[in-house]
This record gives sequence, structure tokens and C-alpha cells, in this order.
Amino acid sequence: MPSPVTRFAPSPTGFLHIGGARTALFNWLYARGRGGKMLLRIEDTDRARSTEAAITAILDGLSWLGLDWDGEPISQFGRAERHAEVAHQLLESGHAYRCYASQAELAEMREKARAEGLPPRYDGRWRDRDPAEAPEDVKPVIRIKAPKEGETVVSDHVQGTVAFPNKDLDDFVILRYDGTPTYMLAVVVDDHDMGITHVIRGDDHLTNAARQTAIYQALGWKVPEWAHIPLIHGPDGAKLSKRHGALGVEAYRAMGYLPEALRNYLARLGWAHGDEEIFSTEQAMEWFDLDAINKAAARFDFVKLQNLNGHYMRQAEDERLVDAMLAILPEMEAPPAIPQELSKTERGPLMMLMPGLKERAKTLVELAHSAAFLFAQRPIPLNEKAAAILDTEARSRLARLGDKLADAPWSEAALEETVRDFAEAEGVKLGKVAQPLRAALTGSNSSPGIFEVMLALGHEEALGRIADQASDKR
Ligand code: GLU
Repeated sequence: MPSPVTRFAPSPTGFLHIGGARTALFNWLYARGRGGKMLLRIEDTDRARSTEAAITAILDGLSWLGLDWDGEPISQFGRAERHAEVAHQLLESGHAYRCYASQAELAEMREKARAEGLPPRYDGRWRDRDPAEAPEDVKPVIRIKAPKEGETVVSDHVQGTVAFPNKDLDDFVILRYDGTPTYMLAVVVDDHDMGITHVIRGDDHLTNAARQTAIYQALGWKVPEWAHIPLIHGPDGAKLSKRHGALGVEAYRAMGYLPEALRNYLARLGWAHGDEEIFSTEQAMEWFDLDAINKAAARFDFVKLQNLNGHYMRQAEDERLVDAMLAILPEMEAPPAIPQELSKTERGPLMMLMPGLKERAKTLVELAHSAAFLFAQRPIPLNEKAAAILDTEARSRLARLGDKLADAPWSEAALEETVRDFAEAEGVKLGKVAQPLRAALTGSNSSPGIFEVMLALGHEEALGRIADQASDKR
């Protein structure tokens, strides 16, 4: 089989939303896994709603997700002349005709259909009429001569064989009176000219596939393979809402997800390879197949995405995580106080604690919050749990511990020994000393190991933080 050529064809009227990202991913996996190409076509024919900002956001979103495309993105609007040329070709071959129905006539047809409870249909009144009868004051549109009898069959890798009775496909417009193409014509001409072998897109386009088939057949062009993928729903099965994940890809970046985690998650959304949940992009490319895409709508599950992200965080290089975390600080909803540019002396302690910090964080945002204590100014703020741990008894114990630590050698082993000996001398379990110590050092009840934390903070800062919480009564 020749290598497939797929395409992602977003309309630049908004961000790259999560459903679009998954469509792009499926196209990319299918092409890349088979030595094929994925092309990018910007469907910018709706001039009023298409914006440069949206195009940039879509390209940035794809790049961040690691989805690359072959060649330059193609502007659909830029191909309008070619679309018109094909419309005229259809006119000459007798597969299309000029329609002079006035706005009033069309409105009447729509009204009649509505009264009969039918979808609006053009009644074909100019299909066989002599163009010599054309009224002078009406500019014509060009309509396709759609088949009237029988059915049009869309044979789809996901939806199976779907038959559309031809009586339901009216003679739709392919070229408007001002010479601009309709979406239906532009898509067919572009897909054909770009050599697209597989059209993989949302199943909201399934009926369009029937109409587009009529155009392909009229032109004598080969119909591409179809795969119409189900939409993504919320965890409750309802249409995906903002709260449930219907967001732009950049929002996922700002929420601290890693691109490889999102790729893995989106690949599993509506597609499966056995019971595999965690897999590399290379494996996904190798395994991905259109026939294994689920026909039912997929359900978006934030908890699953978070767990997957935690897995990829633990695997990621510390340097990269620190850079990624710093990069999204300005995008976070309530960013912790961490300087975006870290000096070497600020970065060192953070790097030292990264193995412990990334173990506990499911997202880069959680990572930032759990690392923020390193950058806090004395006296550092305490969270509720830390405040509760630091009761009168704990505070006076901290004062005695502070005295011991002041003279201890500053190494992990020596600090641990000092704290253990201290707990024993006080006749309490280690936790009774370690928890107040953690609260004083980090302002929180959870952190990487406290001896590492002390090393990272350094002698002066650590003792200072302990003194800030210790009571005068020893
Ligand atoms: N531009 C269309 C959309 O964003 C996609 C058209 C297609 O894939 O054929 O929904």
C-alpha cells in the first residue's frame, strides 16, 4: 500500500481546542506510523471569523504538543480561484448548473419545508431549466447535480457502512453568486489536489462526507478513505463543557501538563490497544489503527489525565521540569512567589530537591506550589496544617532542637543523627520532632525529606526559620 497522506484542517476561528488536538494527533499517528505525511490546511474561508491570532494559537498548540506537519500550512482562502475553476469544470461537463432562484424563492422553499416538518431543501427548479429563461436581475449560484435515485454509501473506518438516501441530498451550492466557493467544494478540491488518501475528522462531518462523495463522483476523482471519529464528552456523558475540559491546548499547558502526557492521554481517548494505558509516542505510532477507534463518544477524565501526568513528571529530567515550570509561572491562575528568572544560587537548592518534589507533584503547578517555600521570605507563611502542628509543646521543643542543630555538622547524615538523638533524649518518637521541624522549615505538612530540605536551605536560613517558630520557653 502506498504511504498515506493525511491532513488536519482546522478553521481558525478560535484556539486549538482539545477535540481538535485529538483529531490532529490521530492524523499524525496514522501518517507517521506508516511512513506517510500529515499536511496542514487552514480553513480560513470564513473571512469574518478567521483571525491571525487563531492561526498562531493553532500552530503553537500543535508545536507544543509535538505534532509536526509536512510542508507549509495551506490557506484554503488562497485557493479560491482553483475552487471556482473546478466549479466551472463541473458546469461544462453537465454535473452542475446555474441556479437563478431569487432570495424570495429560496425563503419560500425553506418556509414550505419547515411547515411540512422537513429539513430545508432546494427543490431543483433550475436543474433542467433552459438558461435562456434566466432573469436578468438575479446573479446565479452554481449547484451540483446530485444523484436523485438510489443511495450514496460512505464506507467509514469508524462508523462502518453508512448509506444516505439520495433523495435527501439536494442540489447544494458549490459556488456562490459572488464566485466564492462553498466549504463543501473547497474541501473536496483541496483534499484531491493535496493528494489526501485518508480523511480523519470529527463525526460531525459524516453527512458532509456523503455530499462530498457526490462531488468526487461528478469529477471522476477517487474518494478518500474516511474515518469520522466520535466527539469527546464530559465525564457525565454530556457534551464537553469548559469545566470538564473543553479548553484550548494552551490552557492545559498553563495547568501544568506535559505534552507527552497529554499525547498519551488523548491517544487513549477513543482508541485502545489491548489494555495498554501508558505507552510512548513510538509505540502509539506503531499500534495506532483507524479500525480500532471506538464508535462511542469518549469521556474526558481529568483524574486520569492527572495521574498520567504524574507518571511522566516522575520520568522527566529535573532540568527540563524546572524550566517548564518557570516558563508557565505567568500563565498560572494563582502563581506562587517564585522568581521567573532564577540565579544560580537560587536554582541550586531547587535542583537538589527536585527528585523529592517531582515524586509528589502531579502537575507543574503542584510542583511550583510545593517548591515555593524555598523562595519564601522569613518569617515564612504557615499553611493551616503547619500552624496546627506548631502548638506550644512543639514550639518549645523546636527551641531546644535549634540549640542542638546550631552546633551540628551540616551534612545529611549528621543532621539525621542529631535529630534522632534529640528525639530519644526527649523521649518522643521521631515524628514528634520531624513534623514541627518540617512545618517550621517549609510552612507545610508535606515536603521532601527534612534533612535534604535543611541542606537545600543552608545553615543560616534553616536555623533562622526554626528560630522564627521556636518559643522563648525552652
Ligand atoms: N474545518 C473543519 C473543522 O474545523 C474541518 C473540515 C474537515 O476536516 O474536512 O471542523
